[in-house]
Amino acid sequence: MSVSIPFNKPYFSGAETRYIEQAVRSGKISGDGMFTKRVHAFFEQELGFRQALLTTSCTDALEMAALLLDIRPGDEVLMPSFTFVSAANAFVLRGAKVVFVDSTGLNPNLDADALAGLVTARTRAIVPVHYAGIACDMDTVLQVAQLHGLAVVEDAAHAIDSYHRGRPLGSLGQLATFSFHETKNIISGEGGLLAVNDARFGLRAEIIREKGTSRSAFFRGEVDKYGWVDVGSSFLPSDIIAAYLWAQLENLADIQRQRLAIWERYQQALTPLAAQGVGLPALPDYATNNAHLFYLVCRSLTERTALIAELRQRGILAVFHYVPLHGSAYYRGRYGAGPALPWADHYGDCLMRLPLFYELSLADQNLIIEVVLQFYQKYSSC
Ligand SMILES: *Cc1c(COP(=O)(O)O)cnc(C)c1O
Repeated sequence: MSVSIPFNKPYFSGAETRYIEQAVRSGKISGDGMFTKRVHAFFEQELGFRQALLTTSCTDALEMAALLLDIRPGDEVLMPSFTFVSAANAFVLRGAKVVFVDSTGLNPNLDADALAGLVTARTRAIVPVHYAGIACDMDTVLQVAQLHGLAVVEDAAHAIDSYHRGRPLGSLGQLATFSFHETKNIISGEGGLLAVNDARFGLRAEIIREKGTSRSAFFRGEVDKYGWVDVGSSFLPSDIIAAYLWAQLENLADIQRQRLAIWERYQQALTPLAAQGVGLPALPDYATNNAHLFYLVCRSLTERTALIAELRQRGILAVFHYVPLHGSAYYRGRYGAGPALPWADHYGDCLMRLPLFYELSLADQNLIIEVVLQFYQKYSSC
């Protein structure tokens, strides 16, 4: 059967094309135009980032972070194994060794209590990912970082409009990265953002983003000519991308309300499965929910494969998520078998995500819930 309920459908407010046309007609569609400035101001004023810089992707923002931290060959960087490959690549590109941390049993976030035991004289940074938009144990992460003089780069790709003890995710680390890939809550097709919360990095972040030149300061009239002053690359997106993104940000409250309603409906309907040992998203008391994704943790890989197949049979596309990086071909090729990270492996084998997007109808969601519940009625006897 063909798919009738996709996993994701990109949100579209209708204003995107209007703003893109406006950008085009303004005669300036390169980076840092009118819409980029609006987007920067939004993140700085509404979400409290010291400085927001749009990038062409979260991957690029992570690469900027590695450059800003002057990561060098031999340095070590701590991050969860259950994360997206870009977080690792950004530091590996600078010659660093990535040291993987296991996830917690509660949820896929990194086990902050394991960090201290992994710090060596070469450790430079911690890169926590707020999985599903649910905050990591940032009290412990920041404490370990402070004690050992490490930088914290929050991979906040999932985490727009989510909070840790009332503080926006992305404002807690010296640096933080966001993604506006079409699978995220707020999108621009491809796109990302670097939040610079430590003033030390501000000027250099602008330079690295503008090909290693002082171009940004020049356009503000702070220097009378611009030139090559540092390493860098081209990390800034066209204002056309920012125009699309602005239409989304204008609707942030509405998007979040709708996603949360869908998420709560899943949670309510599927919570009974917990009695059978099926895992559901778990929120520690310091974390909020931004409804980035709704997941189940099946009891085995076999069970997950069967459930995904059952949903697929009924025209519903549900998908698993990260393949833990410590078991990847690249990592094993370089470092061998690596550490045993049982929770990362568990989520790699057993976690699956259900469709969650703005336009998901009540009827479609009810069908998804029914198929999952029926599956577990059959499966409970196995
Ligand atoms: C989506 C994602 C990224 C990469 O985002 P891009 O904008 O596609 O580069 C990085 N980290 C995490 C956790 C993600 O989910």
